[in-house]
Amino acid sequence: MDHYCTRGAGSGPTAPAEADEDGQAASMDGMEHVGIVGTGLAGVRAAAELRAAGFTGKLTAWDAEDREPYDRPPLTKSLFGERVRPLASQGLGDLAGLGVRVVPEAAASVELSPSGALRVSGVAVDAAILATGAAPHRKMPGAHVVYTSDDAARLAAAIPHSASVRIAGAGWIGTEIASAVASAGLPGPRVELWESSGHILGRSFHGAVDDLWLGWLEDGGVDVRLGQPLPEGQDADAILVQATGSAPALAFLAVEADRTARGALATDSLTRVLSGGSPVPGLYAVGDCADALLGETTLEGGHWTKALNDGKATAAAILGVPPPAYIPPVEVFSTQFGHEIGLVGTVPADVAPAREEPPRGGSVMRWEREGRLLALLSVDAPRELSRARKALRVRRD
Ligand SMILES: Cc1cc2nc3c(=O)[nH]c(=O)nc-3n(C[C@H](O)[C@H](O)[C@H](O)COP(=O)(O)OP(=O)(O)OC[C@H]3O[C@@H](n4cnc5c(N)ncnc54)[C@H](O)[C@@H]3O)c2cc1C
Repeated sequence: MDHYCTRGAGSGPTAPAEADEDGQAASMDGMEHVGIVGTGLAGVRAAAELRAAGFTGKLTAWDAEDREPYDRPPLTKSLFGERVRPLASQGLGDLAGLGVRVVPEAAASVELSPSGALRVSGVAVDAAILATGAAPHRKMPGAHVVYTSDDAARLAAAIPHSASVRIAGAGWIGTEIASAVASAGLPGPRVELWESSGHILGRSFHGAVDDLWLGWLEDGGVDVRLGQPLPEGQDADAILVQATGSAPALAFLAVEADRTARGALATDSLTRVLSGGSPVPGLYAVGDCADALLGETTLEGGHWTKALNDGKATAAAILGVPPPAYIPPVEVFSTQFGHEIGLVGTVPADVAPAREEPPRGGSVMRWEREGRLLALLSVDAPRELSRARKALRVRRD
């Protein structure tokens, strides 16, 4: 069943801008109806940016979770606290205020006819924005994953009654869960973190932060098993958590499109989905389900800031208005063991980092090649992070 949100006056960053006197923004190139598949951060931001850029046409969003859009990072960071934070309450977008009609079910298909007609679940649209994120791998029978607010609620309820929590995967989500459980002051569970690759956050850092994280984890009482996959077979008293990565959720897509190595849709810098290297008319992909090809670099999905920012480029492409002058770099933030952590840029496997202790406190690891900054890890050093963010942004051609 559909439910409909009425268009309100809106406020702050979510307020729809007025259309031009002649209604240009709504009717540009016959653009009357835009479909958005997925109402996570990227989908909600795309709706907000379209309205902010003056689009007054019809917006329909398909919402597989059928609940008010919320932010995912607090699910693990505040596992035992205020973990559900609606996007609207943070000024990131309110679907009702934006006049979005919400279909509370997963879109079954996105199709493009030979004549160029686009349909989402059989509904004709002039443009479709794919914002379906990445679904976690679920290969371990009986294991918890943390992707939705319901997942997090189930895990938080189960942990206090368990003898141990065994986490498979020392990536961002696995280490955050280890930190949340170890820091919760619970009398009970022992925490184990198993990682087959031999490195903590190995996909992001290729072994460069093992010592740093091992110190925090071991001080927090976490039993770390590097180079060892979590053994099969259920220990009846243990809670199992699978945090071994995710894959772009695109099973519904019936349009031929270029994919990157991780199975994401390849887009250009304006989030246009590519097929054979050329944009597919009317099809856009934002957030975690897409990777943007930017010449020599790729802006990979899988982090919050891409989902936050992509909608601006999409709105510009759909409405034919100038896009932002700069494309922000890959950025991941985390809170673990009392530290505010930020990574900007892509860490190269073949460059050793320089370590610094900024005068204002915290610590920094910096990866450079021939004097050019490639990536920076900040631990409690927000000023350095902000400088690196600026240095690493890419000017749009
Ligand atoms: C527990 C957790 C903690 C995180 N912490 C951090 C962090 O600290 N820092 C950071 O940078 N990033 C973090 N991330 C990643 C960050 O949250 C994501 O990059 C961001 O949420 C991506 O937004 P998105 O809208 O692209 O995808 P999602 O937030 O995944 O939203 C996609 C939505 O589309 C829906 N959907 C899927 N298929 C369909 C369909 N066929 N029809 C309709 N809807 C569909 C999904 O159910 C979902 O609601 C975290 C992620 C998780 C899960």
